[in-house]
Amino acid sequence: MIKKRNPYNVILLSVDAVARPDAKDFLSLPAFAYFTERGAFTDNVKTIYPTITYPIHSSVITGNYPDRHSIEHNEPWQPDVNDRMRKWYWSVKDIGTRTLWQAASEKKLSVASLLWPVSGKAGKLIRWDFPEVLPLPGEIPVIKMLKYASRLWLAKTEMLYKKYRVGLKREYMDDYMALLCEKLIESRNYPDLITVHFADTDDTRHNEGVGTEADKAAILRMDRRVQRLIDAVKKRGIEDRTIFVVMSDHGQQNVTNGYIPLDAMLCDANIGRAQSVGLGAYIYADDTAKAAAYLKEHKSELHIKYILTEEQLREIRAPKEIRLAVQAEAGFGYVDRNCECDHLGDHGFGLEAPEARTLLWLAGGPFKKGFVFEGADIVDIAPTIAKVMGIDMPGCDGKIIDAAFDHGVNSYF
Ligand SMILES: [Zn+2]
Repeated sequence: MIKKRNPYNVILLSVDAVARPDAKDFLSLPAFAYFTERGAFTDNVKTIYPTITYPIHSSVITGNYPDRHSIEHNEPWQPDVNDRMRKWYWSVKDIGTRTLWQAASEKKLSVASLLWPVSGKAGKLIRWDFPEVLPLPGEIPVIKMLKYASRLWLAKTEMLYKKYRVGLKREYMDDYMALLCEKLIESRNYPDLITVHFADTDDTRHNEGVGTEADKAAILRMDRRVQRLIDAVKKRGIEDRTIFVVMSDHGQQNVTNGYIPLDAMLCDANIGRAQSVGLGAYIYADDTAKAAAYLKEHKSELHIKYILTEEQLREIRAPKEIRLAVQAEAGFGYVDRNCECDHLGDHGFGLEAPEARTLLWLAGGPFKKGFVFEGADIVDIAPTIAKVMGIDMPGCDGKIIDAAFDHGVNSYF
């Protein structure tokens, strides 16, 4: 029998780019039905602004809004760099506040992380780390990974399992992550916390659109992948001590009308710059009032659904440095100068969108079984996991999701 400091191991599983409109489909899938039966579920988790992957995952792992964790976008603003050449936020040091990984590691709990955004160069915080890092053109993927990942473990896994990796396309990388996650579950050193990020659904929706045959196939692949993790837990006989926290970050909407070159248009008009967040954009201008007046005047030409003022941005806890932003009309997106975008699906919509309500299952351990709770904020995930792991996330913005706990079930709480 393995000695444990805490009664539970937690697998935090992020399924990228699905949301409330997908809830019915996901609830009918066998692997996700297992979570529903064993746990508490809601399709009403309020995500954060901006509705893009890195800021959201940083809110999940810190329990804080972007005005505190400081990951304002997937990538630092690099206005004159072609998007294929841009660096993203790849290192854990980019996050401005304490993470769940840090809280676990301070309690000497072991952590693994697989393709989780902003988790690179984690050092001792994450013992088994395969971070999400994208090789830029001309870079060799494995060499780049060695800089950001847990080097010895990566070298070992490459030796043992590389043959099972079909390619670097996200579909295949997610399959490979499922394999590595199975191996971690089977390992003598089953990690106390595993964070894993599957993004085949995001990739497919960007490229093929939402509701397409390709999209449906990606959702089925996701179910099969997740089932592998459940089977590994069952096979090892550790269902009782394993908690699955399964979440999504945002949905996607179809881009039926194409991308507006907002950044180039603002440059030409000498107003300032725009940084696309997909279906919306940040506006950077020396004179914010002048830029706001210009946007208002050219609202229909620029396909603006609405403008977010500084006051509104502070209210929704947007990243601190953003003082003006816009959301595009339905079916439109924005693209930066010198960049091209031909996505058929995208995110970056406003918080009023149904796709900004995300899915969350809290399954196993002290959570209520077969229970549907009213909702939560996405920042509540970290303190809720901290509670079941017996670790602290003091002072974070999120609250423990008390409604999901069955206090009668386990005297530990
Ligand atoms: Zn995402």
